[in-house]
Amino acid sequence: MNFLTIFARNLKQGPQTEAFPLGPAFTPERLRGRIEFNAATCEGCRICERVCPANAIRFAKTPDGMTFDCWHNTCVFCGNCEFYCPTDAIHQTNDWDLSHVNADKFDMVEHGLIPNQTCVECGATALNTAPMVKNAKPPLSTEEYAEVRARCPKCRAKYLKNRKVPA
Ligand code: SF4
Ligand code: SF4
Repeated sequence: MNFLTIFARNLKQGPQTEAFPLGPAFTPERLRGRIEFNAATCEGCRICERVCPANAIRFAKTPDGMTFDCWHNTCVFCGNCEFYCPTDAIHQTNDWDLSHVNADKFDMVEHGLIPNQTCVECGATALNTAPMVKNAKPPLSTEEYAEVRARCPKCRAKYLKNRKVPA
């Protein structure tokens, strides 16, 4: 094919590449991109940290509670954390536009905090994690869930054990 034939074909077909970064780029809906974390629904099980092959996820105890950090620079977008998370507290967006200058590398982190709370029953300081009650039978009502959540792990277990279940 000579130059003129190719030139004419390309003129007829129009651009075959994305205009990015000068315009939008097509992004598949299910593309595995940047991680998002929702502290409100996290059980604090730390499974995501254990299954992350890149060590991109770190939890740390602080005086305020437990912090969550996911380094976008380190993440390899495998999806393990979302797959194994029992509560959908962590999921992958389809945001792939993570390029940045070196000076911004410490901003490429998803932060979260599971705060401390005071147990309403015994007064102990404990993490305000989402309760692990997925298998409770019958499922907890909204009020019961709030009651469980407001307690420390020991008092949560006691509450669930003494819960009056209709026959
Ligand atoms: S994000 Fe999910 S897997 Fe990670 S600690 Fe929270 S509940 Fe567990
Ligand atoms: S997608 Fe994979 S590499 Fe990225 S944080 Fe989750 S488990 Fe780690």
